Amino acid sequence: MNDRGADIVELAGVVKEYAGGVAALRGVDLVIAPGELVAIVGPSGSGKSTLLHMIGTLDRPTRGSVRVAGHEVAGLGDRELSALRARHIGFVFQQFHLAAGVSALDNVADGLLYGGVGLRERRERARAALGRVGLAGRTEHRPHQLSGGEQQRVAVARAVVGEPDLLLADEPTGNLDSAAGAEVLALLDELNRAGTTVAVITHDAEVAARAPRRVRVRDGLIVADERGSR
Ligand code: ADP
Repeated sequence: MNDRGADIVELAGVVKEYAGGVAALRGVDLVIAPGELVAIVGPSGSGKSTLLHMIGTLDRPTRGSVRVAGHEVAGLGDRELSALRARHIGFVFQQFHLAAGVSALDNVADGLLYGGVGLRERRERARAALGRVGLAGRTEHRPHQLSGGEQQRVAVARAVVGEPDLLLADEPTGNLDSAAGAEVLALLDELNRAGTTVAVITHDAEVAARAPRRVRVRDGLIVADERGSR
């Protein structure tokens, strides 16, 4: 849960420079409030992945402040950061990242590994999460027995099984055909309507156009922040 009723994400003046002097982010301010569905959109090389790393606390900014669920990232060590991520953020990646040879149920149950929850309860909650993504009938399937769209839905179930404050999806439809992609996007919409805050990173204008808020990134800066349908 969100500890202080704070915004889920608060970035202020975030600069990220990589070794070699590349400034991937050049001063980003971004607030994501509880319940939002935000698309972060921009061309390749604009800084989206770097922004994802900042929001997801996978890396620290060179300068500026990153707060997630009210916690300032700068003050936390690596173990505290892992704990922050485990409690507050669910990740979905383009490549699914499911464990091969492991059932859908246990792939999802593994999403609770860092929460101090026993195996039996992890599996119960995983079963419920698979039901939410429409895969109640696939709990014992291994990833190679599932379609790409189904694998991504398992990954979404794993991301939300711990009821994170934020679901962070990085090009979630990038490896799917358009029908499976549409299903995954509909699922993210549905989770958002049920209360999950969602940020989707994409270079795809069609994916972005579906979102009620679109943050446009270019050359390491936010160049537009649009709300409402187009
Ligand atoms: P996007 O996700 O929009 O394609 P990135 O955030 O990956 O953009 O990259 C933004 C800029 O930072 C690019 O110029 C890229 O080459 C550079 N960059 C990204 N990661 C690194 C890194 N680890 N080391 C050095 N430069 C990087």
